[in-house]
Amino acid sequence: SRTLVWFRSDLRVRDNPALFHSAAKNEVVAVYCLCPDQWLEHNDSPNKLWFWMQNLNQLEQSLNKLGIPLVIIQPDRFENCAKQLLELAQNLKCDGISYNNEHGLNEEHRDLCVEQLFRKKNLECQRFTDQTLITPGQLLNGKGEYFKVFTPFRKALYRTIEPHQIQPLPVPEKQKSVLLPEVEKVDYKDLFSPAEAISQRWPAGEEEAGDRLKAFIELHAIDYKKLRDYPAIDATSTLSPYLVSGVISLRQCFYAALQANNGELDSGNDGLQCWMSELIWREFYKHILHGFPRLSKGQAFITETERLPWSQNNKTFNAWCNGETGFPLVDAAMKQLVNTGWMHNRLRMVTAMFLTKNLMIDWRLGEAFFMQHLIDGDLSANNGGWQWSASTGTDAAPYFRMFNPVSQSEKFDASGQFIRQWLPQLKEQGNKEIHAPWQYDIHDIDYPTPIIDHKLSREKVLSAFKALKQP
Ligand code: FAD
Repeated sequence: SRTLVWFRSDLRVRDNPALFHSAAKNEVVAVYCLCPDQWLEHNDSPNKLWFWMQNLNQLEQSLNKLGIPLVIIQPDRFENCAKQLLELAQNLKCDGISYNNEHGLNEEHRDLCVEQLFRKKNLECQRFTDQTLITPGQLLNGKGEYFKVFTPFRKALYRTIEPHQIQPLPVPEKQKSVLLPEVEKVDYKDLFSPAEAISQRWPAGEEEAGDRLKAFIELHAIDYKKLRDYPAIDATSTLSPYLVSGVISLRQCFYAALQANNGELDSGNDGLQCWMSELIWREFYKHILHGFPRLSKGQAFITETERLPWSQNNKTFNAWCNGETGFPLVDAAMKQLVNTGWMHNRLRMVTAMFLTKNLMIDWRLGEAFFMQHLIDGDLSANNGGWQWSASTGTDAAPYFRMFNPVSQSEKFDASGQFIRQWLPQLKEQGNKEIHAPWQYDIHDIDYPTPIIDHKLSREKVLSAFKALKQP
């Protein structure tokens, strides 16, 4: 018998549960659904979509080497997937379909529709946990509820995780070539155009992702805890785009770190422990996204924060988007995002807090702007990060915690190296002046004066949050 294996954000042949288990039993044909209308509605960036297409192309080649043909169909939107997949399965004489679960309301609804339609036609539908170590909904607290705080979640996960949930699966064996009826060839590789510097910075493919993982574990993981907050230093793995498109799995990353740490989760090298814990943040936000559907609808996790009086100031929002706020670290970070499709984690927090707390602009606008540029845009992590920064989310920063963009700059980019990289007009400034040029007697620089006063804006946001507590 023959199974249709539906690829989505799992663009790899290694450690792919749906592919591996289906190929172990049956002959398989792979399928991918192009849904540009839906993706753009989800704010997926051209950078990310371009990256997906390059990885799809690499996947097609890897599948071909395994004797597995890849068919591309074009439902455009999620609601058309079920019907078109069924038609394809029937045309190709498949007995069923299999896929790895994705999270998010629209994705989960789409997947359920596919499952129901296939079952209605007496065709098999097999679904697998892939993006998380533990299936969302299966790791609950003592009250049988989702964990809302990260540390107890991580501890419970470490207590209950079984070896088979961490161990990556091998590449399936090569199958005999499949003879398919003629199917339309779709040219997908150039459907999306990324920002200029993207293609060299983010080569596609499982090999690349594997090399990055190996290099990180061998060279950087040990110092991760110490250096991960300094944006001018290459101290993090830069694996996020590969994880989000599933070119590498969470299991592969977690397993590699665990091996390097001699199988120890909560002891051993603190850099490796810290990195594993960051991977679990990714897991945590996936569980939260699944457990609280309101997050997929753009709603705040802490419902009362919906009453915050967000500012409608287009001018300050545009200044933030364009990296023209007058705060060098914020501006340099925004330039990094727009030019590379990626931003260092420390700076994601700094820029998100600046938008939501200093400018008091709705986190949803920042969340969307990030998605429209990120090559690693991911609803669960992005929404989680934004709501954390805005203090509207689960286990979020307390509302009175607010980064000062100047002291963050002095602390994490002390020599101004990162700022100089992205703001050449400040290149000549001294290590002290570069963090807050307006405080010094500097003339003739083509750089804006600050668009807000940190102290005043801090008072404003604190009183807005305090007002929420009043009846
Ligand atoms: P490393 O430091 O090497 O970490 C390894 C992996 O762990 C990352 O690739 C990522 O998958 C995971 N991870 C690390 N930190 C976090 C975190 N705080 N939350 C969830 N997962 C984490 N991450 C995304 O993958 N997509 C997003 O759209 C995204 N948006 C964010 C928005 C904001 C406002 C904030 C504060 C954070 C966001 N993050 C997002 C999390 C984090 O910034 C990135 O995952 C990280 O910077 C990616 O770089 P790296 O691969 O070098 O990470």
